[in-house]
Amino acid sequence: MLSEFDLIKQYFNRQHPGRAALGRAALGRAALGIGDDCALLAPSPGMQMAISSDMLVEDRHFFAGADARMLGHKCLAVNLSDLAAMGARPVAFTLALALPAADPDWLSGFSAGLFALADQHGCELIGGDTTKGPLNICITIFGELAPGHALRRDAAIAGDDLWISGTLGDARLALAGYRKQYRLDDAALLAAGTRMHTPAPRVALGLALAGKRLAHAAIDISDGLVGDLGHILAASGVGATLDVDALPAGPVLAAQPQALRRQFCAAGGDDYELCFTAPSSRRDAIVAAGHASGTAVTRVGTIDAAPGLRLVDAAGQALDLKLSGFDHFASA
Ligand code: ADP
Ligand code: MG
Repeated sequence: MLSEFDLIKQYFNRQHPGRAALGRAALGRAALGIGDDCALLAPSPGMQMAISSDMLVEDRHFFAGADARMLGHKCLAVNLSDLAAMGARPVAFTLALALPAADPDWLSGFSAGLFALADQHGCELIGGDTTKGPLNICITIFGELAPGHALRRDAAIAGDDLWISGTLGDARLALAGYRKQYRLDDAALLAAGTRMHTPAPRVALGLALAGKRLAHAAIDISDGLVGDLGHILAASGVGATLDVDALPAGPVLAAQPQALRRQFCAAGGDDYELCFTAPSSRRDAIVAAGHASGTAVTRVGTIDAAPGLRLVDAAGQALDLKLSGFDHFASA
């Protein structure tokens, strides 16, 4: 049986001498990583730190028995997505892990998925905590950005365009498929499920939007577009008109009936796309930033001075959709 310390050394401490090739010089800027009471992190001169935590709980955020490699990816992806939505560059993260047992197969799959995504983004694991208990994964992530460049929720301005990155709704469609609430063939369920299990955080796009000051406000869509956009509207004291038929449906959802497309694009959840607002003078630059970061960007509405969210169809006619974002306590 692995001890707590062997487990950390074997699966999470890549500065350990046996793993010198993956050591700190290659990875990050922590002045001191795993192994002491605290890690030491030195922000680049003049930069602000962006810090966020996200917890994934078994049977709440993922099914019991979920693939360990995908879980390793997803728990870091949702945290990277928060940095992306702020326009921050990933630097480092900590991992607090409650595990029912020290299962080597699970640990090697989980750490492989985690480090593959961490290395893609140059983000170093610098510490954490490990305990026995019901499976629960909590990551705190640290990024940095120039003062005044953060894409805040309270910065939308009436007249801004409303934009969405990537595509929406496939993760929610997969959930409906797994729950047998909606019939999908095996290939469709696999493709939609991949979107649910391995979201791609839009870090490069967020960096371009903030670094070049193209966008005003941004949020990442975790609980469904309408709910998450509502946070921008409330914080900024504005309203919006959203063209529901302009929303970019994921490839699997795009082949489903219109009523389902509208519902899952507007209020699906688990998308991890960016919703952002920007002045119309920036349209060409935003399309170029999307190209440069390999992420589609779609204009889906406008920010209005009048409060409230108005949903319209492609012809601009009001749509009376019953939608709500995901709320853990409201639905519990
Ligand atoms: P403490 O007793 O001070 O809480 P621990 O014995 O829990 O310290 O951890 C020893 C070292 O291993 C610390 O540097 C801690 O940050 C690191 N660590 C513990 N668990 C993890 C983990 N899951 N991932 C990465 N580092 C971890
Ligand atoms: Mg501890």
